Amino acid sequence: MSYEHILVAVDLTEECDPVIKKAMALALAGHSKLSLVHIVEPMAMAFGGDVPMDLSQLQQQQFDQAKEKLEALKRKYPDVKTGDSHLTYGQPRQEIHNLAKEHHVDLIVVGSHGRHGLSLLLGSTANDVLHGAPCDVLAVRLIKRPEK
Ligand code: AMP
Repeated sequence: MSYEHILVAVDLTEECDPVIKKAMALALAGHSKLSLVHIVEPMAMAFGGDVPMDLSQLQQQQFDQAKEKLEALKRKYPDVKTGDSHLTYGQPRQEIHNLAKEHHVDLIVVGSHGRHGLSLLLGSTANDVLHGAPCDVLAVRLIKRPEK
């Protein structure tokens, strides 16, 4: 059984390489369409929604930087061009689920840090995306490199 449309969620850090590579291998084996998504989280959300200053310029810069990074990723992995790439504002879980439904995605691929301790309590995007997902979700284990 293979997937028709795989959606890879990327945080645009260097950690997205193993996540994309795993998704690409699956897409190649199953002749699946492969799409990318990055969600820019509204800054006001990070500050708890009540910020006494105008963040719109900073927010625009954040969006433009994300756009450049996403374009660079598409150049690095030309196979990803078989699908679409999405860049939107919002909350990752909600936006990824909505996109998956709209674009008939049957597998979402995310990275997972295998957290423990306090960070486990705080939760992770992988966990968040898994809950209520409209399709299968693959969590690619990200192994932390030892610090030099
Ligand atoms: P985190 O739990 O935030 O460390 O992220 C784990 C994984 O969730 C990443 O490897 C990505 O696959 C996905 N992810 C995190 N943040 C975003 C984002 N803003 N947009 C899309 N995917 C994300």
